[in-house]
Amino acid sequence: MDFIDLKQQQKEIKLNLNKRIAEVLDHGRYIKGPEVEALEEKLCQYTGAEYAIGCGNGTDALQMALMALNLKAGDEIITTPFTFIATGEVILLLGLKPVFVDIDPDTYNIDATKIEEKITEKTRVILPVSLYGQCSDMAAINIIAKKHDLIVIEDAAQSFGAEYHGKKSCNLSSIATTSFFPSKPLGCYGDGGMIFTSNQELADRLRMIANHGQAKRYCHTIVGVNSRLDSLQAAILLAKMEIFEDEVKQRAKIGERYTDQLKEYVKTPVIKEGYTSVYAQYTIEVNNRDDFCEKLKAVNIPTAVHYPIPLHMQPVFKSLDIKVGELPISEKVAKSVVSLPMHPYLNKKDQQFIIETTKEAAL
Ligand SMILES: *Cc1c(COP(=O)(O)O)cnc(C)c1O
Repeated sequence: MDFIDLKQQQKEIKLNLNKRIAEVLDHGRYIKGPEVEALEEKLCQYTGAEYAIGCGNGTDALQMALMALNLKAGDEIITTPFTFIATGEVILLLGLKPVFVDIDPDTYNIDATKIEEKITEKTRVILPVSLYGQCSDMAAINIIAKKHDLIVIEDAAQSFGAEYHGKKSCNLSSIATTSFFPSKPLGCYGDGGMIFTSNQELADRLRMIANHGQAKRYCHTIVGVNSRLDSLQAAILLAKMEIFEDEVKQRAKIGERYTDQLKEYVKTPVIKEGYTSVYAQYTIEVNNRDDFCEKLKAVNIPTAVHYPIPLHMQPVFKSLDIKVGELPISEKVAKSVVSLPMHPYLNKKDQQFIIETTKEAAL
């Protein structure tokens, strides 16, 4: 059994995929080919955001979103410690200061009620992560941001396709970033990412930053990077978009079945009213994680831990001098979370086997 099965998906779209890849090989515009613009347009339509800028990966997307804001060294970025390293890493990389706010124990997303107490003179950005495929409380976060004149960046690397009160993830804040890493809900066959905004000025800046800071050829106005989505990856994503909505439905169905049958036995994901999850991960909590994973592994069910160490406890953030115990919920759940296999092609028999084994193995 695979943790995420990409082979079955490939079978579904093989003809379309082959046709689109062949088109790229024929026209030969591997960088900035027409597929990139077509995908940007398609994802604007899908999310409702006005502008989309393809880029190299989800980490670059975050880095460029921060670069576009004219921040200065030491400016503070409020974010969650319970996320993939990329979210915090780009903050340090740009000489900015991450300020971690603890999470909600049910959704694992930043606890919006704890943000205001961490705002200082130097705060510029709130950077919530839509973890495991469910958005943070973006309305509450936007209200705080407006009151304190801050920018909100949604790290939507795991939530592309999710809905929040009828609006799509990636269209809920000043800027949003996503990743097309192969195992993400919408993944390509390599690295890829996208930045979304409905602010034209920001969109223009972001497009320049992604292409060496140039406004027109060989005229470099600002410091940029080289981070582009290539035509082949865009072609692959266009093929995948044709089945994406069905896949999102299938993920939701599997997530609901897991939850229905497991909720009496383990802590299952809490999807709040008005929210949907794309279940980038289906993550439960158990009290005997090592033993639980061993038991599942013994019957060939793969598991994964997202994430075993909160960012503030990673050596790379040592200079922030955050003490153990300061972000207790993140520290606690990092010890008990474990993700079960989740992808749209997980058949009923495997689902049932995973459910039964989980019931027996979990404490
Ligand atoms: C995957 C991920 C990223 C980084 O995306 P890459 O494309 O791998 O660079 C950033 N943030 C979160 C929350 C992620 O899950």
